Amino acid sequence: VLSYRHSFHAGNPADVIKHLVLREVLQYLTQKDKPFDYIDTHSGAGMYTLASDESQKTQEYQTGIAKLWQYQGNNQAIQNYVELIKNYNLDGELAFYPGSPSVACSQLRAYDKGWFFELHPQDIKHLDDNFRSHRNVKVKFEDGFKGLIGLVPPQSRRACVLIDPPYEIKSDYDLVVDTLVKAYKRFATGTYMVWYPVVNRERIDRMEQRFKDSGIKNICLYELATQADTDEFGMTASGMIVINPPWTLAKTMSEVLPELVSLLSEADGFYRAEQLVEE
Ligand code: SAM
Repeated sequence: VLSYRHSFHAGNPADVIKHLVLREVLQYLTQKDKPFDYIDTHSGAGMYTLASDESQKTQEYQTGIAKLWQYQGNNQAIQNYVELIKNYNLDGELAFYPGSPSVACSQLRAYDKGWFFELHPQDIKHLDDNFRSHRNVKVKFEDGFKGLIGLVPPQSRRACVLIDPPYEIKSDYDLVVDTLVKAYKRFATGTYMVWYPVVNRERIDRMEQRFKDSGIKNICLYELATQADTDEFGMTASGMIVINPPWTLAKTMSEVLPELVSLLSEADGFYRAEQLVEE
């Protein structure tokens, strides 16, 4: 039984870093006039209404996107990300927050392809409704880890993958690495992004070590901690591990992350921007 619903968390600091990185990667891929495939293994509903009971119950978006709504700074990547979210809120009030499939669709061209996997019986319905009119998108009510393996290498020979599981089941931490090792063996030139939460630091240390030992090359990590690590319950930080990132991403994130720390984190927040494995 799946109990995780992303609607409780939409627009929180974890979504900010995830969707900002996603936008940057897709933007880079669209600079070349050649089609690519975007594969979202854990898509969620695709769009969230912040007036919903779920969002209102946690108010998590207040600690994320809401704090950037009036962003006045000069960072281009943050500006572009906020602009993207504003495009779903054209009267200027923050009322809707796009999920990763919508963020992706805002960047895909008609000749690119989107593959959206989701297993929750209700979220799959929303996802279906949200993307029915998109002719270049396929919504799949299937396991995204297995679905990814079935899609690589893609015909286009260019692809960008987002793996964003709920980590409700602790085995997800290992399954992410195992799945990527398999996908990479079939298709080593794809850009793969993995989102991870820091609830327990040892779990992430272990995941990083497994990536370092995996034989996969060119892996970067970008993390935003809104609080210091703790042994108490709850997520204090989250990050994106990116395999084969655009060469521009490291510089972009080295400028984005300190700003996000000052805008979204508490006094003991911090960031990490690291090359885990060299090219
Ligand atoms: N990527 C989304 C975004 O950024 O808007 C949020 C995804 S949410 C963190 C994780 C989603 O994965 C949930 O909607 C959950 O129902 C779904 N899920 C869980 N296990 C799955 C699986 N094995 N395959 C596909 N989807 C799964």
